[in-house]
Amino acid sequence: MINQQRLVQTFLDLVRIDSPSNFEAEIGLHLQARLDALGLETEIDAVGNLVGRTPAGQGHGDWLLLSTHMDTVGVDRGIQPVIRDGVIYSDGTTILGADDKSGVAAVLEVLTVLQEQGLSHPPLEIVITVGEELGLYGARQLDTSRLRSRYGIVLDAGGPTGNLVVSAPSQDNIRLTVHGVSAHAGAEPEKGINAIRVAAEAIAAMPLGRIDAETTCNVGIIEGGTARNIVPDRVKIIGEARSRDNAKLEALTATILQTFQDATERHGARLEANVARTYTTYRLTEEDPIVQLVANAARSLGHEVHLRAGGGGTDGNIYTAAGVPCVVISTGMADVHTPNEHIAIADMVAGTELLLAAVRSATRNS
Ligand SMILES: [Zn+2]
Repeated sequence: MINQQRLVQTFLDLVRIDSPSNFEAEIGLHLQARLDALGLETEIDAVGNLVGRTPAGQGHGDWLLLSTHMDTVGVDRGIQPVIRDGVIYSDGTTILGADDKSGVAAVLEVLTVLQEQGLSHPPLEIVITVGEELGLYGARQLDTSRLRSRYGIVLDAGGPTGNLVVSAPSQDNIRLTVHGVSAHAGAEPEKGINAIRVAAEAIAAMPLGRIDAETTCNVGIIEGGTARNIVPDRVKIIGEARSRDNAKLEALTATILQTFQDATERHGARLEANVARTYTTYRLTEEDPIVQLVANAARSLGHEVHLRAGGGGTDGNIYTAAGVPCVVISTGMADVHTPNEHIAIADMVAGTELLLAAVRSATRNS
């Protein structure tokens, strides 16, 4: 039922439209035009999220959310897709952007198939967000109170088609500034408090990396100092902590803050801390109707189903927290966020077939 050639063409077209996070205006309008052409009612919200709705075709059922994101990670532009042995790569100098344009292409293909073949489907709500790679920025700005869906499918994972991601961690975004005292590094260093030294001691002492099976943390950015010969009075540290257990996350974040507090006190420096919960953990089970629906669709296509825990948040965290429980499915993308990112055409087709089967099985015929 899926038209492989059309699906691949759609994907290649999308990949060639630059859309790093914060620069989604062009692709947003392109996607809106495509949804309009498919007869959906569309709108772009104040931050650039594209929302499209189509009533049920030839059937009934609860509103079903299909969500993907239109931004690509980092700043890469001018992406040139290359097909080798049935696998789509970039030319090796950039990411491919299969994360998440393979998801967008799958949604467009499914909508096209439903329309051209007059297939029954439930009312569908399409949300294509901006800024997902910035920490679910678009989804967090979305007016979720206007969502009509009972449940949803987010296309934003890799791995075998039968892997269904049904849980995700909470994440704390941790921004710290160590304030020291500047001084001339040669003439009177004893008058200074070296903020880089304070930060270094704290980072060396804090928990880092994998903490346990469901808990991790990282220091990702450090910025500070102004000149070789000035004792630095300021250093900024940006990190994160994640866990699928909120109590563990709170304890970990508290430990990190305490470690920095101790180091700054030891040196007479001052700590400015800013912690924000970016998204909140959730866990669905095979009892949840959306899990049942997608799992049954996958089995009907011959896939072995595994319910998996995700290591990262997706827009599904936001929708689930807003009362629209979401399963995250694989689009077939692999090695995302690297120049080796790729997607096998067979996997892209399999993910799209799963989406189509799940959408069709959500129809109530009455
Ligand atoms: Zn993604």
